[in-house]
Amino acid sequence: MQQNLKLSEQRGVTGNHFFDLASCTTRLWLSNKRIDVGMDNKHIQIGIYIDEKTKPRLRKRLTIQGLCSIDYVEYSGHLEVHEIKKGKTPSKPHYLQLLFYLQIMFEITGTEPVGFLHLPQTKKKIEIKRDPEKVYMAYSEILSVIGGECPKPVMIPICSGCRYMEMCWA
Ligand code: SF4
Repeated sequence: MQQNLKLSEQRGVTGNHFFDLASCTTRLWLSNKRIDVGMDNKHIQIGIYIDEKTKPRLRKRLTIQGLCSIDYVEYSGHLEVHEIKKGKTPSKPHYLQLLFYLQIMFEITGTEPVGFLHLPQTKKKIEIKRDPEKVYMAYSEILSVIGGECPKPVMIPICSGCRYMEMCWA
């Protein structure tokens, strides 16, 4: 994948694609087809609740349609990109989504951002640096998955909390 392609100039591959790639390729494929089985899944609701309760009050979500929806950004001598996540330990999907956001903000602003992953359940705040190589590799993998047949589901621990549980395993 050529790094002279600006990811901020494409539309269609979003932060959710990066999250799903690192979670489950079946979910990535289904979600990309906009197959929506609703937001009443309790894990999704808990995530939304934690996000809203812990985000600093005056901070607004930064959304660029078809590209990203960042919990909030701050500037204190340098650009900071903040994501608030459910869970006690950081996971690969958390990292990959934030790396994508860092790449987008770097391309748009021309300055080097720093990422922070917040895990309110354990009061952890983890600093993350931009890693374009990882992001471009993941972008290439995403295109390959969504351009192919739906990957066969594989039972993994997150299936029990996945909105596609019934679709994959009923
Ligand atoms: S139920 Fe499991 S296999 Fe199916 S999309 Fe969700 S995580 Fe993937």
